[in-house]
Amino acid sequence: MSKFCSLASGSSGNSVFVEHKGSKILIDCGFSGRKIENLLSQIGENPKDLDAIFLTHEHVDHVKGASVMSRRYDIPIYANKGTWLSFIKSAGKLKEENIKIFRSNSFLNFNSFDIFPISIHHDAKEPVGFILYLDNKKITVLTDTGIIDERILNEIKGSDVYYFEANHDLDALKRGPYTYPMKVRIMGKMGHLSNDQSAKSLADALQGKNEKIFLAHLSETNNSEELCKITVDNYLKSCGLDTSRDIKLEVAKRNEPSSIVEL
Ligand SMILES: [Zn+2]
Ligand SMILES: [Zn+2]
Repeated sequence: MSKFCSLASGSSGNSVFVEHKGSKILIDCGFSGRKIENLLSQIGENPKDLDAIFLTHEHVDHVKGASVMSRRYDIPIYANKGTWLSFIKSAGKLKEENIKIFRSNSFLNFNSFDIFPISIHHDAKEPVGFILYLDNKKITVLTDTGIIDERILNEIKGSDVYYFEANHDLDALKRGPYTYPMKVRIMGKMGHLSNDQSAKSLADALQGKNEKIFLAHLSETNNSEELCKITVDNYLKSCGLDTSRDIKLEVAKRNEPSSIVEL
């Protein structure tokens, strides 16, 4: 059996919990150690039982508590070379055996997990999303990418769970308080996915086989749960996907765990 849960998600912090055959991992650890402990306890999990932390990229909303948790509970951290090169400067002292390196776009096996770290388009050193293969189930964890190209789309198709970025509403971003360079960065090919981009890529990937979608990494300033959900819901409906029958749609909350998916 497998379990999937967003511990919390937004532009100020992200962490995902996944369990498969008794092995437990976090993907990203973008909150303080104390907050991660608290979020885990809310879903009945103990940080002592974590087997690894996998990092998508070095931005603080993805790595903030990673090294603290590694030191406190002796947890290995897995990241690619580019992410380590940037992250190691701020990570503090880590046990050498807890520094694990994987290659992007190459399968890695960790306990019962088969994991494919896929290169994405974002202004970090070597950012990736993760595609998890758990027996006959497939989970996509994909945030912090400016675009979804054909290569990514083809890899993620057929997933049972999509944890998927829907960062901003484009009009809200354009009209909002951010500086012009920040707006350009977020809208750019190396920035973040808008609700519309997210909806379109999801519509291309979904098969209507009762997939679970978590819309994630919402901007606090340029998006809202309601707007995000309505935008994606409407678009999927316009493509003939019924969100009350063919798929399940949920917005991953900023400060609390999502529902737990059992696969
Ligand atoms: Zn980022
Ligand atoms: Zn981020």
